Amino acid sequence: MHIAMIGAGIAGLTCARRLQAHGHSVVIYEKNSDISGRMNTRQTELGGFDYGAQYFTAGSTSFKNEIAAWRKAGWVAPWDGKLVALEQGVAKAARRPDARAHHRFVAVPGMSTLSRQLAQGLDVRTELLVTAIEPHDKQWLVRVRADTVPIDASAGPFDAVIVAAPADQAYPLLTAVPKFAQQADKAHLAPCWALILGFQDSLGLPYDGAWVDGSRLAWIARDASKPQRRAGEHWVGHASVAWSTEHLEDDPERVKEKLLKAFHDATGSQVQPVYAAVHRWRFAQATTPLAAECLWDAKLRIGACGDWFAAGLTGSGRVENAFLSASALADTVG
Ligand SMILES: Cc1cc2nc3c(=O)[nH]c(=O)nc-3n(C[C@H](O)[C@H](O)[C@H](O)COP(=O)(O)OP(=O)(O)OC[C@H]3O[C@@H](n4cnc5c(N)ncnc54)[C@H](O)[C@@H]3O)c2cc1C
Repeated sequence: MHIAMIGAGIAGLTCARRLQAHGHSVVIYEKNSDISGRMNTRQTELGGFDYGAQYFTAGSTSFKNEIAAWRKAGWVAPWDGKLVALEQGVAKAARRPDARAHHRFVAVPGMSTLSRQLAQGLDVRTELLVTAIEPHDKQWLVRVRADTVPIDASAGPFDAVIVAAPADQAYPLLTAVPKFAQQADKAHLAPCWALILGFQDSLGLPYDGAWVDGSRLAWIARDASKPQRRAGEHWVGHASVAWSTEHLEDDPERVKEKLLKAFHDATGSQVQPVYAAVHRWRFAQATTPLAAECLWDAKLRIGACGDWFAAGLTGSGRVENAFLSASALADTVG
């Protein structure tokens, strides 16, 4: 089949690779200029910063096997950073369930490298926002918008179409099949303001990452403690869901000021950064997942996958969910 894939995050790329291996031809449409979605790495004059997904863990055998293959290929490596819980500026042993993960992995030398490796040999078309999926006889057309062209173009026809975007972004596209739009409407993703900091001087902190209590920031990590990163005092912080939701539309400069203060308060360090930036993830992590692996209608040949599917795991909103959901969909399509 000739298949349109919408989204070049880990889900879209994983699904497309499998479908291509099954003999299908796949065209991936990605709205951003860069692939990777929420596993992106921001390039700065100080080096790369993983400002979205921080690391990934594996609970399922199939993801463990995939990670083993990625390790063998040299695409990912374990991250053995020292992680703590910060309570009122005091570092304590972290007791939350995610702190118990035995192995944490990151792509090397930056999170986005994994997507670049997975995209090898795939037909990925960037800077094309898909605005609608339309039936065309027994096939599908996708309407695509490029910033440089004043009107949307029609691409296709395709025998099948797969939406590998966050639920909130998948919803308007899936209105072509109301029963699927209803499903996407049940799963929502919470926002997250990310803080990116580079320091010239050492902060002298005795940990590499921390879950923070009683702060605007829920998580901070010393990005440079991950394997194969450029040396330096590079930190990433993630604001809590509650704070990010309340301040979603705030001016980025104000957000930066407030999160930098939260970073100083949480760590007790007053060292000023030489580089500071924020990024707003409007759809960061799935809070209400669908208790399914993926969506697929074999008759209409349309489906969806991503981290908003539980895909056999207890939680959702993680790299492993995206991988399992995408693999399940590709195997279902056959
Ligand atoms: C701040 C943050 C921290 C996180 N931390 C972790 C972590 O530590 N561990 C972990 O396992 N997971 C973490 N996650 C979650 C993890 O990043 C995601 O689960 C995973 O990357 C989702 O992959 P995906 O392919 O399903 O979606 P995405 O990565 O969102 O990919 C979807 C792609 O679709 C594109 N797209 C959307 N709509 C359209 C359209 N209409 N037309 C064309 N393209 C479109 C988007 O631009 C995007 O590139 C974090 C996420 C964030 C944001």
